[in-house]
Amino acid sequence: MIEIKSHLDPNLRKIIKKKNQIAVIPVGSIEQHGPHLPISTDSDIVTEVARKLSEKKNFLLLPTITYGVSFEHTPFFNLSIKESTLHSILTDLCLSLLANNIKTVFIINGHYGNQNTLRDIDKKLQKLSKNNLKVFSLSYWHFMQREFDHGGFVETSIMLAISKNVKMKLARKGLVTDGLNQQQINSLERLASKSFPKATKNGIWGDPRKATKRDGLLILDEILRNLEKKVSNLPHMV
Ligand SMILES: [Zn+2]
Repeated sequence: MIEIKSHLDPNLRKIIKKKNQIAVIPVGSIEQHGPHLPISTDSDIVTEVARKLSEKKNFLLLPTITYGVSFEHTPFFNLSIKESTLHSILTDLCLSLLANNIKTVFIINGHYGNQNTLRDIDKKLQKLSKNNLKVFSLSYWHFMQREFDHGGFVETSIMLAISKNVKMKLARKGLVTDGLNQQQINSLERLASKSFPKATKNGIWGDPRKATKRDGLLILDEILRNLEKKVSNLPHMV
C-alpha cells in the first residue's frame, strides 16, 4: 500500500511513472450512531476497509472524505454536505488524479445516504475525461452476507474490532424488523431515508447488544475477501 498523505513528492512521482497506479478514495460520514458508537463510525469503518484493501492490492490510498450526506439524521447530530457538494468533491478529485496520470479509481463508500451521489459518477467521469478515467464506486456492505444496519449488530461488532471508542454499556436495542413483511420493511426504509429518528425512535437500526469484537473481525474478513475478488475481476487497467 502507498498511503499518499505520508509520501514525498519526488518519490510519489517516481512510483506513478514506474507503473499504472490505482487510487482508492474512502467516503464516510459524520452522524449519530446511537448512544454507544462515535459519530465517526462510517468514516472509521470505511477507512479500515479501504486501508486493508489497499494493503492487499498495493493501491494508492487517499485520505478519507470524512463528511457525507446525512441530513436524514436531523434533529440528531450530523455534519452534512449536499449531494451536489459531494459530487463536486469526488469529480474534482478524480480529474485531479487523472492530471497526475492516475487513471483508475475505486471509491469505497461507508454511508448509505451517499449512494444517490455515487450512482452515476462512473459514467459521468468517463464522459468528462473522454474515456481516459475508469471509476468504480463500491459500498462495503454489499460484500457481506449480513444485512446492513445502523449502530446495530454489524456496525457495533466492526467498531469493537477496530476502535476503542465503543461504549457497550450504553448500547440499546433499536428498530428490529424480524417478523415484519417486506412491504412493511420497505416503507420503514423509505421513512428512514427521510427521517431516521422517526423510523427508528432512538437512531439505531438493529440490535447492538450482542455485538462482539470476534464477530467484527469475521465480518471484516468476509468483506475484504469479497471486495478483493470484485476489484480483481473488474476491467480496471486503462
Ligand atoms: Zn453507519
